[in-house]
Amino acid sequence: MSSFQSEFALSQSAVRVRFAPGVRHDVGAEVERLGGARAVILSTPGKRNMAEALASDMGDCVAGLVPLAEMHTPVAVTEQALVEVKRLGANCLVAIGGGSTIGLSKALALRSGLPQIVLPTTYAGSEATPVLGQTEDGLKTTINDPQVQPQVILYDAELVCSLPLPITVASALNAMAHAAEGLYARDRNPVSTLLAVEGLRAFSAALAAVCQTPDDLEARGETLYGAWLCGTVLGQVGMSLHHKLCHVLGGAFDLPHAQTHAVMLPHTIGFNASAVGTQLDPIREIFGNTDVGQALAGFADKVGAPRALRDLGLGEADLDRAADLAMEAAYWNPRPLVRDEILGLLKAAWAGNLH
Ligand code: NAD
Repeated sequence: MSSFQSEFALSQSAVRVRFAPGVRHDVGAEVERLGGARAVILSTPGKRNMAEALASDMGDCVAGLVPLAEMHTPVAVTEQALVEVKRLGANCLVAIGGGSTIGLSKALALRSGLPQIVLPTTYAGSEATPVLGQTEDGLKTTINDPQVQPQVILYDAELVCSLPLPITVASALNAMAHAAEGLYARDRNPVSTLLAVEGLRAFSAALAAVCQTPDDLEARGETLYGAWLCGTVLGQVGMSLHHKLCHVLGGAFDLPHAQTHAVMLPHTIGFNASAVGTQLDPIREIFGNTDVGQALAGFADKVGAPRALRDLGLGEADLDRAADLAMEAAYWNPRPLVRDEILGLLKAAWAGNLH
């Protein structure tokens, strides 16, 4: 059966994507291609060495480094970075890092109109979306604006080889969550479904190989391929209960982003399975279990993912408030949300027990 739907709408932005081990060495040519001559390189403070290594390849087109990125894209940090970008007279942004660094790049692009070249070093997928989340006064707001979509994405498998295995696994499950929720999204389209299935397939095949041999460039490349596909799904269609719960747990309880996605995935997608008919069949098929939650839990166990919210630092007493917050401004979800059922789901995820 094909992914055909008799009615759908799909918007796609023009993005140049390159995959190759070592493609980072071409970033200077990509800056030139965009018409830039003065690029600033963005990173987190901790990954300044990655930015410096990139700069050493780029010659004269580097205007300077701005290693200021922080988790959750605080507006105050963006404003400080914007002053630097202007002071350096930059006409192009180059971001090397995970979702935090790419978030800073998008926030700067929104305010400056500068083009972006991004080199992702995790699987979070932000590079493939026109979405920006920013925090101010402890509040995270999200905007969807074509201006924040990076123009060029360079996927270099050599850059992810240094990603420690626990972050690798959690980040991969974070990516897979975009695809899993994309399969039942209300505004899904045949292309988003194809991308989601192929993205899940890429991770199912390659993540175990990466866990065996973290510097296996072929397997790292395939996981980045999965990240691109799953991130593209995130950019195209709406997310549901899984992403809402992860935003609540990250925003209100400061739980780590990727690890929270990893723990929640079997619980949330398993919860929705009864409400979506055959839409999650690709998960049953790819991960070899007719029970969707067990299929994802089995995969999570195989790759050594975290399985309990209590191991991420959440207190049992917080679960009630988390359930309340999940019911506030809830995202559309295929299964109607009942507070006590959400509390039950959270309790199971807290303890690491499925069903
Ligand atoms: P991150 O960018 O904070 O990186 C996680 C950790 O991995 C950091 O400690 C970082 O230093 C380290 N790291 C990254 N690459 C590495 C490498 N190659 N080698 C060694 N260490 C490395 O986290 P993330 O999970 O990539 O992104 C999370 C953030 O991105 C969140 O703020 C989330 O909201 C945002 N996000 C946004 C979107 C979107 O579409 N707007 C999509 C996904 C995630």
